[in-house]
Amino acid sequence: MRSTGVIYNTNHELHDYMLKGFPSPESPARLQDIMQHFKHNNVFENNNCKVLIPNSASSMDILRVHTVDYFSFVRSHSSTGGGWLGNDTYLCEGSLEVLLQAVGSVLEAGKAVATGKCDNAFALVRPPGHHAYADRHSGFCVFNNAAILAKYLQQVQSCSKIAIVNIDAHASDGTQDIFKADPSVLCISVHQTPSGFYPFKGFIREMGLMPALGYTLNMEMPQEAGNFEYSIFFEQVGLKVLEQFDPDMVILECGFDSYYKEKLAKLNLTLDGYYDVVSRICGRWPTIALLEGGYHEDLGLLADVVVQALADNRYTKDEVDQMNLLASRQSSCRRIFGNKLNELKSLLSSYWDL
Ligand SMILES: [Zn+2]
Repeated sequence: MRSTGVIYNTNHELHDYMLKGFPSPESPARLQDIMQHFKHNNVFENNNCKVLIPNSASSMDILRVHTVDYFSFVRSHSSTGGGWLGNDTYLCEGSLEVLLQAVGSVLEAGKAVATGKCDNAFALVRPPGHHAYADRHSGFCVFNNAAILAKYLQQVQSCSKIAIVNIDAHASDGTQDIFKADPSVLCISVHQTPSGFYPFKGFIREMGLMPALGYTLNMEMPQEAGNFEYSIFFEQVGLKVLEQFDPDMVILECGFDSYYKEKLAKLNLTLDGYYDVVSRICGRWPTIALLEGGYHEDLGLLADVVVQALADNRYTKDEVDQMNLLASRQSSCRRIFGNKLNELKSLLSSYWDL
């Protein structure tokens, strides 16, 4: 069994849309459900996890990525009671405290892996981060957890090359924008096609800017794509590019809304699909998984399976009948997927050997 660190932000309930009367699927119940599932199913014990203690991030940590003006805005807006910010994002009075502890937890997870205390780690934090830009919030996200971790690993833990892999159903637009011209950070995002789907970015042709052209990869998955398509993508593109880039560390933006039960997206990953993707990555590179989105009743089960993948200790069986799932979907899914994959491969072939 691999040694796995798990950390969660204990004060996350202070970031609660109900306190402000806004409707949002990004609620404290998400992390409460995961922690309850972990407790009832002895996930920490079964996987021999090291439970890490969260710390609050400092302003210096946040400012490695975010602008001074934006950080001041979040701080003052939160301390004066918060409110609706637009772009599906809210702040409450306690939000700054929660956000700093979420980032601090992510950094603690990174430190544990970078210093060899654990082989891999999973930071269960909220709100998510991958839609946050250097100077703006978006899509429930205020601070970009993955980007801040990448900068921390480079500047404090002397990692040179970092890969950030997003498997949330929504494109990792904030993270990609932050690193679009930085060839020391490879950004791979596999998500539901952004045509008519939030964040309306993350098309295959978005490949970064000089001197990092080719270091941003976007795979647009057609609606209903699932385990099979993810497996093919990683085999034929994702893992090949990762091998050539050869990162010191992988940060996995682990959203659970690519799951077949998610109402906010239309992808079909199941437990097997999540296990497969995570274990292929963490079996090869030290990996820090971060919770991103996911708004259905099986978050606990999925987080459990991700811990099993990180620990190399699978025992939960996938109950979904894959043949039924495949039979129920549109026949165009496989064809569109094949075309998109070919388009991506041909654009990437100037930069990577595929
Ligand atoms: Zn999402």
